[in-house]
Amino acid sequence: MKRVSLSILIMFFVMQSSCLAIQSENKGDKKTMTNKIVQTAGRDRLGSFAPEFAHYNDDVLFGENWNNTDIAIKTRCIITVVALMSQGITDSSLKHHLLNAKNNGVTKEEIVAAITHTAFYAGWPKAWATFNLAKEVWNDNASALTDKEKYAKTILFPIGEPNTAYAQYFIGQSYLAPVSTSQVKMFNVTFEPECRNNWHIHHAKSGGGQMLIAVGGRGYYQEWGKEPVEMKPGDVINIPANVKHWHGAAPDSWFSHLAIEVDGKDVSTEWLEQVNDEEYGKLK
Ligand code: MN
Repeated sequence: MKRVSLSILIMFFVMQSSCLAIQSENKGDKKTMTNKIVQTAGRDRLGSFAPEFAHYNDDVLFGENWNNTDIAIKTRCIITVVALMSQGITDSSLKHHLLNAKNNGVTKEEIVAAITHTAFYAGWPKAWATFNLAKEVWNDNASALTDKEKYAKTILFPIGEPNTAYAQYFIGQSYLAPVSTSQVKMFNVTFEPECRNNWHIHHAKSGGGQMLIAVGGRGYYQEWGKEPVEMKPGDVINIPANVKHWHGAAPDSWFSHLAIEVDGKDVSTEWLEQVNDEEYGKLK
């Protein structure tokens, strides 16, 4: 690539690309592994409106041309970025192809050099527009975040520390953060996807029970003998004393709720059996 003039490459890659999803499919065993590019965006989005175009897009442009190995996929990705930039196409399709370039091994240094080089031939403003998108794609801070850190950015309350004290009564990892430790005591409880607490009962002779206020992600509350209730931020559940129940995350989502213990006489919590995988597995 370094020896090939990008400006020449621009000229032969004239096919304008719209926002196309490229998927790599592993073929063969490890020794002979090649990544075949499979494209379905044409048929997904234009299959019934423009079937021939969809066919050319999925089967010819991507099915054949993108799978041609005479030039490496990484080079092909750079050519595509350069072609779009040169035309001034700096919309979501360019963002997509920058991401594709990164996923195919183009480093920050290489894309910066490619855009800088192209700027002389294609125009300064186009480089500015492209750099703005490339910066987002190669922004290490954003991609280095863990799932927990990404989720933490979506909620107002802290996630806190691993909930080790109660871990024996939970399946999966939960976290606990005190929100208020005086007057009305309140904790933010966060569940990783698939995490839930065991069936349990908040006992009280009078008063008592527990309030849950969902503050992030998606989860469930279920009383014994009743259907599970989905919980999303803003939902409030009033759990009466002496009712067997569980609460936790949805299978595919983090979940947080504030937990408020309601004052009562002779309050205690009795922990019971786990919510088994079969009943939990039915949840969406
Ligand atoms: Mn409870």
